[in-house]
Amino acid sequence: MSFNLDKITRENVKGLSPYSSARDEYVSDGSTMVFLDANENPFENGVNRYPDPQQRGLKAILAEEKGIKEENILLGNGSDEVLDLLFRAFCEPKQDNIITLPPTYGMYKVLSGINMVENKEVLLTNDFQPNVEEILKTIDSNSKLLFICSPNNPTGNSLSTKKIEELLNSFNGLVVIDEAYIDFSSEESWTSRLSEFPNLIITQTLSKAYGMAGIRLGICIASAEIIAVVNKIKPPYNVNQLTQEKATLRVLDRDAVKNEVRQILTERVKLEEALKTVSFVEKIYPSDANFILAKVDDASLRYDQLLEKGVVVRNRTTQPLCENSLRFTVGTEKENVSLINALKTLSN
Ligand SMILES: *Cc1c(COP(=O)(O)O)cnc(C)c1O
Repeated sequence: MSFNLDKITRENVKGLSPYSSARDEYVSDGSTMVFLDANENPFENGVNRYPDPQQRGLKAILAEEKGIKEENILLGNGSDEVLDLLFRAFCEPKQDNIITLPPTYGMYKVLSGINMVENKEVLLTNDFQPNVEEILKTIDSNSKLLFICSPNNPTGNSLSTKKIEELLNSFNGLVVIDEAYIDFSSEESWTSRLSEFPNLIITQTLSKAYGMAGIRLGICIASAEIIAVVNKIKPPYNVNQLTQEKATLRVLDRDAVKNEVRQILTERVKLEEALKTVSFVEKIYPSDANFILAKVDDASLRYDQLLEKGVVVRNRTTQPLCENSLRFTVGTEKENVSLINALKTLSN
């Protein structure tokens, strides 16, 4: 294969020089300085200064945590912003296309619509794995991004390493592996394979295992060359001061995060066992994430009945290959008991 980053970058992006903010021009070396460069209000309140546009402190901690280099990281206002930046850096509107593998995360399609980039869909196989042959047939010279979600939302399973390797090796565009649920998975992150594949992009988030959906922090991990291109179009202050501070504290609180993930995984096993005893549950799909997809007799009916009992789950029945399927997020022990009790009442 012949991956060429320059060839797949949009012409207008190649020629861009990024906005240079006051905080880009002068980087503090720790010595005491008088900051009269950014038209800020000088009275300290914790957030009166602009945040670091390159989030150096947070990136250093994330790099150490994930065993990668800071130059391989770009941070965004949630992974949703990171994904949008990828469209804007690499996909020419009304000309290029992306490949997605439904049933999967809905944002890829939404972003393709917003950016006027065609979304070519290749269904997963019946066991929710990539249909490599069909994907390779669908790829054309305008295909720029291939989105692979692993563990996949809403199905919960990890996608085959071998199949992803095949796609990485044969696609001349960028393969984006969305690892929003990687911390719940028994599989290793693709971050360890970064140096092998120049066309690999991994996205992660603090929204799931780290329990920080409210602060909006998304992580893009790729070669330094790819990161440099995306950095050109990133809004300078896209990750705010409060988010940088909260995220830093949380990532450093390793034991707390690990402990919560462990509890969620224990609860997932219990929820799976309970679902097996529910009369109208027809199939429970294996999960590598913090949710379980299950096929029931009538998803819309069961969804409404659960709502009536005060439990909100996700009805995925309109998604391809997910007819009559509900997605249950694993909650606290108490929340899961509420769900299980509701299901058992309905089951009689
Ligand atoms: C939840 C989720 C995300 C998280 O997006 P954020 O914008 O970081 O909150 C990303 N990808 C998938 C597949 C998800 O399910």
